[in-house]
Amino acid sequence: MEHYDILIVGGGAAGISAAKAAKGKKVLLAEREEKLGGILLQCAHRGFGGDLSGMEYAATLADDLDNVEISLNTTVLSVSENKTALLSQKDCGRREISFSRLILATGAMEIAAGALHIAGDRPKGVYTAGMMQKLVNCNGFVPDGPVVILGSGDIGLIMAETVAKMDIPVTLVEKAAALGGMARNRRRLDGLDVGIRLGSTVSEIFGEKELEAVLLSNGEKLLCKTLLVAVGLECDRKLIKKLENPEWLRLCGNCERVHPMIESVINDGTQAGEWVCGI
Ligand SMILES: Cc1cc2nc3c(=O)[nH]c(=O)nc-3n(C[C@H](O)[C@H](O)[C@H](O)COP(=O)(O)OP(=O)(O)OC[C@H]3O[C@@H](n4cnc5c(N)ncnc54)[C@H](O)[C@@H]3O)c2cc1C
Repeated sequence: MEHYDILIVGGGAAGISAAKAAKGKKVLLAEREEKLGGILLQCAHRGFGGDLSGMEYAATLADDLDNVEISLNTTVLSVSENKTALLSQKDCGRREISFSRLILATGAMEIAAGALHIAGDRPKGVYTAGMMQKLVNCNGFVPDGPVVILGSGDIGLIMAETVAKMDIPVTLVEKAAALGGMARNRRRLDGLDVGIRLGSTVSEIFGEKELEAVLLSNGEKLLCKTLLVAVGLECDRKLIKKLENPEWLRLCGNCERVHPMIESVINDGTQAGEWVCGI
């Protein structure tokens, strides 16, 4: 079994930064997708490290990794107390490795419609906002309108802008009395034709096979063919659920806490990499 000083799970901004900082160690960076960058690769909007898009920013990050063994298309399936991990690499099968330190950089997962107290089925046309962001920006998908977006955090705001700029009717529904997210993302809606319903939520979904409409808690029924759920992110710690906080483990980036800005993710990842070097 091959041994590594450090196994980093997740090749988003946090995992890449940790790998760069872990100089002089034998590092394996495992990423389940075919490219490094994580969530950045689906962000076409500007606002990363100044005025770059997420995609452009990812390209600047993924240099200077000469000291690192990068394993793409590789999912870490499990991690054990005895410091071994089971990896599954697309087209190459499974392999077990051992490590001295583990850095978890698995990002965050979106809260899906199934987890919400909304009556009705979950027909075709119901997505999480991040999933739709990836479909639109990476696969050229065009959502069927009208679109309703539930939740006005940063992802909801960014998707409202994206959909409105495609000339598709869009309504943003927010249960608070004011829009959420960062001010700079709220400004994205200035001058765009986006319907806004504050102080309300989606309480029922209509449509058996395909989405037809949603009922809001204020009694209004909105006809729609697409519902995007943008109600938040949860740290993705599935892999370490059974571990009892061992001293050889460090979490960084969105799996440690959800960071709204890339700079703090980079900082967090760098500190995790330096922690390994200091041991
Ligand atoms: C929609 C959105 C818009 C944003 N917009 C901005 C912005 O405008 N400006 C800004 O500064 N910041 C923005 N941010 C914040 C910041 O960019 C992100 O928080 C940051 O990129 C997250 O990095 P991460 O490495 O923690 O997670 P991620 O980028 O999610 O990376 C996690 C990686 O781990 C991999 N992974 C997960 N599990 C496994 C496993 N078991 N095995 C192998 N690999 C695995 C995933 O494939 C993924 O590549 C935005 C965030 C989001 C979600």
